[in-house]
Amino acid sequence: MSNRCSVCDSSEVIFYRRYSGEVFCRKCFLENIIDRVRATISKYELLKPFDKIAVAVSGGKDSLSLLRILEKIERDFPRASLVAVTIDEGIPEYRDEAVENAVRYSRSLGVPHYVYSFRELFGFSLTEVVESNVADAVGLQPCTICGVLRRKALTIAARKLGATVIATAHTLDDIVQTYFLNILRGDTRFTPIGIRREAEDVIPRVAPFRLIPEREIVLYAYISGIPFQTHDCPYVERSMRDSVRLFLTEYEEKFPGSLFSALSSFEKVFARSIQEDKRCRRCNEPTSRELCRACEIQETILEKMKR
Ligand SMILES: [Zn+2]
Ligand SMILES: [Zn+2]
Repeated sequence: MSNRCSVCDSSEVIFYRRYSGEVFCRKCFLENIIDRVRATISKYELLKPFDKIAVAVSGGKDSLSLLRILEKIERDFPRASLVAVTIDEGIPEYRDEAVENAVRYSRSLGVPHYVYSFRELFGFSLTEVVESNVADAVGLQPCTICGVLRRKALTIAARKLGATVIATAHTLDDIVQTYFLNILRGDTRFTPIGIRREAEDVIPRVAPFRLIPEREIVLYAYISGIPFQTHDCPYVERSMRDSVRLFLTEYEEKFPGSLFSALSSFEKVFARSIQEDKRCRRCNEPTSRELCRACEIQETILEKMKR
């Protein structure tokens, strides 16, 4: 490994990118991440010059980094606009801290910020569902309920705000993990994550970090002074994703570049298997079922809570 920055030859290097052999100083690393996000957006045509972009800001370091980077990139597109959206699922402390970070950081960037809660959108908070044992009664992990409903909540919020696209902070690691999780659950009907697909009356979702490894976003956030959360989600240890994450992290450590190979293999397969979307009979969002998973979960929970 060279001890000089591959871009500017500075000797104050902070990062060695194993899968490419590049070495970076602080300044060149920050610029490189922004350039790579810009390249990802243009490679997949994720954003358009007239978009009103709803950035999903959970308040964690990944989403705050995304907001910061998109705010920089979008300065070149004066007719595009950004809004930050936080979904409050109602987990005290953990989400309260995150919402506070999101509010403060959006304000510092001059980006309008909106909060929508599970309670106002669905009629219950996640904590109520877990503590009343309804989660157990419907046989679902809190993370599953939360994941499905957050996704739905974002769609509703983006619609209310008149957004033309939703941008999420899913990284290369998140996306490859999700592909593996689908395979492990025997679900092969999944579609590419974070690539813009237009359909009538649907707000497309894009992931501008889809080619950036998680650890590089963590480093970007750290050296940009983005706040890190001190509270962990109290429900996260029950997640099956953790095992997949651990496996993939170790594998990438031993064989640098594996995450990129996995992503491209999965996407070659998708190219052959994309199906026509059906629509949910209740909310009209694309789904492979009669009733989408979000509507099914919401109805089941409300039903159980009445008793
Ligand atoms: Zn440099
Ligand atoms: Zn639905």
